[in-house]
Amino acid sequence: MNAAYNKGALSNMDKITQTREVPVIGSYDVVVCGGGPAGWIAAVASARNGARTAMIEQFGFPGGMATAGLVLPISVFTYNNKLVCGGIPWEFVNRMEAMGGAQVEKPLGNVAHDPEVYKLTAQRMLLEAGVQLHYHATVTGCSYENGHLTHVIMDTRSGPKALETRYVIDATGDGAICAMMHVPMQEAGDQPLQPASLIFCLGGVDTDNLPVAHHNLQGVNMHHVPLQRALRELAKTEEVPQFGGPWFCHIMHDGFVLVNATRTFADMTNHLDATAAECRLREDAYVLTEYFRRLDPVFQNCYLAYTAPVCGTRETRHIRGAHILTGEEYLNRVHFEDSIARSAHPIDIHSANDSQQRCTFLEDAAYIPYRCLVVPGFDNLIVPSRCLSADQIASASIRVQAPIMCLGQAAGLAAAMCARDGISVHDVDISAMREKLISWGVDI
Ligand SMILES: Cc1cc2nc3c(=O)[nH]c(=O)nc-3n(C[C@H](O)[C@H](O)[C@H](O)COP(=O)(O)OP(=O)(O)OC[C@H]3O[C@@H](n4cnc5c(N)ncnc54)[C@H](O)[C@@H]3O)c2cc1C
Repeated sequence: MNAAYNKGALSNMDKITQTREVPVIGSYDVVVCGGGPAGWIAAVASARNGARTAMIEQFGFPGGMATAGLVLPISVFTYNNKLVCGGIPWEFVNRMEAMGGAQVEKPLGNVAHDPEVYKLTAQRMLLEAGVQLHYHATVTGCSYENGHLTHVIMDTRSGPKALETRYVIDATGDGAICAMMHVPMQEAGDQPLQPASLIFCLGGVDTDNLPVAHHNLQGVNMHHVPLQRALRELAKTEEVPQFGGPWFCHIMHDGFVLVNATRTFADMTNHLDATAAECRLREDAYVLTEYFRRLDPVFQNCYLAYTAPVCGTRETRHIRGAHILTGEEYLNRVHFEDSIARSAHPIDIHSANDSQQRCTFLEDAAYIPYRCLVVPGFDNLIVPSRCLSADQIASASIRVQAPIMCLGQAAGLAAAMCARDGISVHDVDISAMREKLISWGVDI
């Protein structure tokens, strides 16, 4: 792994060798590691298309950053009101909406939602599709030879267990399986990693008078400009924590908003960096709540209701796949023969060291090729997650949830098709796959 992505790593003081016998408790066509937006949609797509599918998730619920990180809204399904990220992700949004748990904000197709409705709806879709769920299980290893993986090993409450599998989808966000299998990673780009943030929920907010809690303008960054100015002014005389935005999102309940404002630099693949970030940002959430109360009457009666179960990060590893999608290709909306998803979110780069954000809005939705999800020399591994093979510029747009869900959908379909035909992930019938995705409503 590149040194710049490994900042803060512990030096190994000593080493112990452990050997352990791991019972194999299941055998599947497809094992999906990670149940975030990429993973759970991939699992549904795989199972619906005939593959015996299991999903491993360290938490007790699906959604990843959307639920464990309280990352709202789900950005963005449409461009100028035209749906580009259709299929299973959009079916999911419609189901949440029917339960009163989501609101589609037009023309962007940003989706504000209730995270509890998210968890329940996703769980129902997984179980209806026949996915075998392995919650409270952390993937800690795998067996592979010559780039071909045979078993995924997970630590569970009752010790280590293994699942035999023909294909694996790494949807851990950070590319945990890729790192274990020594998949080549990209060199660090010109910019430092984007920051980590701990999202928090405020209660007692006058939500009727907080228009920025709705994200309904194309080409506009919906942060709270007056509050940002007030915080920057205050920072001249008082100690204001590093912040971004602030951005607000409603969660379908009056008086409550989620706040995306805290930020710090951290390599979240390093557990001590992650620990430091959690500690720092919990303090900052508390302090920022105090300042919001002082600075804006909309927040005068607000209180810190809860923080997200985990601090999230926007960026860690980037794998080196069969194609590295560049910012230039992305901004020029280059269409590929193996385009399998689109993204309409701006190139959205948050500074790790201050409150700045660089947003480049797209002239139309960009295309993402299948080759960004597969790695030369690895014949049964597909990687639809945030760490896919794109440079830092293209990744800064693809990383949001709607395109990531669409990549999960394509990965699940590809894995099921490969399992049916018994072929390498590099040999999947691209035109049949694209045809199917288009029939599901993906605009590619
Ligand atoms: C602060 C912040 C703000 C953001 N703002 C937005 C926004 O406004 N709109 C938007 O759409 N997106 C936003 N994003 C981006 C988006 O949330 C993520 O990029 C997206 O969730 C990535 O999806 P993923 O499935 O690849 O990874 P994740 O969501 O990280 O899911 C990975 C899953 O894998 C599990 N996992 C990881 N390792 C293991 C393991 N070893 N064993 C078992 N399970 C494992 C995790 O628990 C998790 O459930 C934001 C992200 C952050 C951090």
